[in-house]
Amino acid sequence: MNAPLPLRTTPPLTEAFLAALTARFADQASTAQAVREHHGRDESPFPLTPPDAVVFARSTQDIADCVKLCAAHAVPVVPYGAGSSLEGNFLAVQGGVCIDVSQMNAILAINAEDLTATVQAGVTRKQLNEALKDTGLFFPIDPGADASLGGMSATRASGTNAVRYGTMRENVLGLTVVTPAGEVIHTARRARKSSAGYDLTRLYVGSEGTLGVIAEVTVKLYPQPEAISAAVCTFPSVDDAVATTIEIIQMGVPIARCEILDANAVAAVNKHDQLTLPEQPMLLFEFHGSPASVREQAETVQAIAAEHGGGHFEWAEKPEDRSRLWKARHNAYFALLQMKPGCRAVTTDTCVPISRLAECFRETVADCERLKAEHGIPYGIVGHVGDGNFHVLMLCDPDKPEERDWVEAVNDRLVQRALDLDGTCTGEHGVGLHKIDFLVKEHGDATLDVMRAIKRALDPQNLMNPGKILRL
Ligand SMILES: Cc1cc2nc3c(=O)[nH]c(=O)nc-3n(C[C@H](O)[C@H](O)[C@H](O)COP(=O)(O)OP(=O)(O)OC[C@H]3O[C@@H](n4cnc5c(N)ncnc54)[C@H](O)[C@@H]3O)c2cc1C
Repeated sequence: MNAPLPLRTTPPLTEAFLAALTARFADQASTAQAVREHHGRDESPFPLTPPDAVVFARSTQDIADCVKLCAAHAVPVVPYGAGSSLEGNFLAVQGGVCIDVSQMNAILAINAEDLTATVQAGVTRKQLNEALKDTGLFFPIDPGADASLGGMSATRASGTNAVRYGTMRENVLGLTVVTPAGEVIHTARRARKSSAGYDLTRLYVGSEGTLGVIAEVTVKLYPQPEAISAAVCTFPSVDDAVATTIEIIQMGVPIARCEILDANAVAAVNKHDQLTLPEQPMLLFEFHGSPASVREQAETVQAIAAEHGGGHFEWAEKPEDRSRLWKARHNAYFALLQMKPGCRAVTTDTCVPISRLAECFRETVADCERLKAEHGIPYGIVGHVGDGNFHVLMLCDPDKPEERDWVEAVNDRLVQRALDLDGTCTGEHGVGLHKIDFLVKEHGDATLDVMRAIKRALDPQNLMNPGKILRL
């Protein structure tokens, strides 16, 4: 929905607060315009909305002290990881202090024998995997950007591997969190399972900085598969690619990745990454397991694809070929942005039960084609179709507000379609500012009242990332 940003109702920072901030944080705190602006814009089409100050935390104690100081002066707090979110999640609509945790980038423990790692919240997914390189283990969750583990926990992120390994919801074992009162709490220990009281880990996973600041994250790790093999396969239409996906999932093939690119996305990726992929709807697959199981999975998937008109499989066997393929997939967002330089992207994020995916996809493609024919708006589709989750990127000129309205209307209809099919308005990007009104449609008022009660109980002053997820 293309609603205006909420009006700021908070006063500017006082001299007394700024003096206290400088006394405690010295050069770790900044009010420089460039620093504030860097923390006031994400990839969404929302306008620049900077915080009043930025504090670069280096420890859990830094976060706790900053949160306590802000609470004492009724100043809003906005946590910030790598700044890669897409829905206006960290825009400082009520000003305040942005706590940037990117310098909290220590890997605290790798417990290889338990398949867990504990990291500070600013550690990025690539940094963790680099540190795991010689252990035979890996961390599978891979949003396209090199996001921080704190930010990924806060948005309940996923990525191309989620169809096999789950999302942050399934892979965070415990968190260290600074509460809105500035207390440091631990939500769980490292046991693989626990029935010990309310599940605060899962409450904070997906809370988008509205209930506290995540300082440390303990995640599950997985053994590197003995064999890995990736392939691409083209289809006569997106319908055929989607039908193939549905059958693969319904047959229980333990596929590790199953991603769709429509012809527009393939063309954009070819140009951006100097590839020569056939410019047709395409599925990208990856298989993990023993050599025999990878072979068996690949044979099953090839047979299913052939039934739906799938062309011949192009295999990427060598690690460098695989990484070129997945790098291109991860770059698809930036490749699609190049379709019309200077434009901003509105990105959809619906997710539906797999049996309803074909319907959702078909009607959405028809709507996007109308948008293109009537208004000349370029679009491309990529998605984690194995999970029922796909993204339409539609480009609009920031100087032509009517384009944003047309594009948001397509998104509104897509969300309604997904909800009618028992799906969700956001599979992985979170609510931020963009999806607030959809949340009411998705959950209804009674459920939102429970969420509001939790927010009010934990953050009675409404200082933690105010204006996000819920209207109070
Ligand atoms: C090219 C591209 C591709 C992407 N692909 C995917 C994808 O496949 N899957 C996916 O899930 N996402 C994807 N994203 C979105 C983005 O990468 C995720 O939302 C990611 O989880 C954000 O992490 P971050 O560290 O950048 O967080 P930020 O953007 O810094 O913050 C995101 C939210 O989390 C809060 N937050 C950040 N750190 C903390 C903390 N320590 N404690 C509490 N709250 C915190 C912020 O206040 C904000 O609300 C993509 C983004 C881009 C640009």
